[in-house]
Amino acid sequence: MKNIKKYLIISIIICLMSVFALNFKFNINIYAEEWEEYKGDVHHLFTHCLLAFPEIAFDENNKMRKHFANDCITKDEFIQILEALYENNYALIDINQTFTLDKNGNAIKKKLWVPKGKKPLIFSFDDVVYDQKKMSLGMVDKIILDENGCLATSTIIRGNENISDSNEFIPIIESFVKKHPDFSIGGAKGLICLTGYDGILGYRTGEKNTTTRYSEIEKVKPIIKKLKQNGWSFACHSFGHYHMKKISDKAFSKELRQWNEQVVPLIGKTQIYVYPYGEWEIFNGNNLCNKHKMLKENGFKLFCGVGMKQFYSYLPYSADADEKVLFMDRTCVDGYTLTNQRHNLLPYFDSYKVADKKYRKINI
Ligand SMILES: [Zn+2]
Repeated sequence: MKNIKKYLIISIIICLMSVFALNFKFNINIYAEEWEEYKGDVHHLFTHCLLAFPEIAFDENNKMRKHFANDCITKDEFIQILEALYENNYALIDINQTFTLDKNGNAIKKKLWVPKGKKPLIFSFDDVVYDQKKMSLGMVDKIILDENGCLATSTIIRGNENISDSNEFIPIIESFVKKHPDFSIGGAKGLICLTGYDGILGYRTGEKNTTTRYSEIEKVKPIIKKLKQNGWSFACHSFGHYHMKKISDKAFSKELRQWNEQVVPLIGKTQIYVYPYGEWEIFNGNNLCNKHKMLKENGFKLFCGVGMKQFYSYLPYSADADEKVLFMDRTCVDGYTLTNQRHNLLPYFDSYKVADKKYRKINI
């Protein structure tokens, strides 16, 4: 009888402790989930695929060395940048959550709600192709799923496959958000900007790869599925990475057809168009130009350029224009801006602190 009483008392104590613990956890969750309307700027940074192997990328005999030094950052620089962004209260948001459509189907900015104190940030990544011309020169070869089904990278180095979960922005952001869930609003990760001229994500899925195309398509499907499940979004960065001002209307129309035939079946439709080289053409006076009309007919709603100052608004400025187009500039994070534009990047991170001094000399 004495024992039963003892067990009863112990059980009651355990129950009370559990209720207390649950309540404590619940309170913490409520605190973490306090949301507020965000009235500031929506920030948008972009970079390219990372230099996973900087010792190869910056090697004197590497023919891509200068291009990599200017246009790319290393994986370690990227990790430092994420740490700084997190410390400065930025949190990733899905670009598709920042706008809605009006009754005419045009994109309009949406009221944003964010966890209290957070600043919404879109991070986009251009040219996620792993172009065959750049193979073995310092980047990874492709995005894969590792043996645990997690997003990782594969690279052949001196005949051996190197599988890594810390060599490219995709697995790096995956682990960073796992460690800091409040760095992501609603589970958002990054925006992957694709072309199609040499396939996507390291898979040769294009029409020109006649013999291997279909097996490559089957291989990339589960990667795309996983990316979407994990909060990644896609944008069109054209098919052939042309200069918009130099390409004819006819060639532009062909480009869009190739995108629709070779990339859309893999990733689905996207409403986001990211101009190659940040070079855009929207209006001819106050009227939409032909190339923009084609983009509009193909379902693109939000258009992204390149500019060091934040801009998310409507073009053109003139009040008498027939139509307004929602446009967003992206702040460039690459070797050139790390080195030369420290001041413009300071709201996000200090390039002097994040840059790899072994490879770069930062102008302060
Ligand atoms: Zn590009």
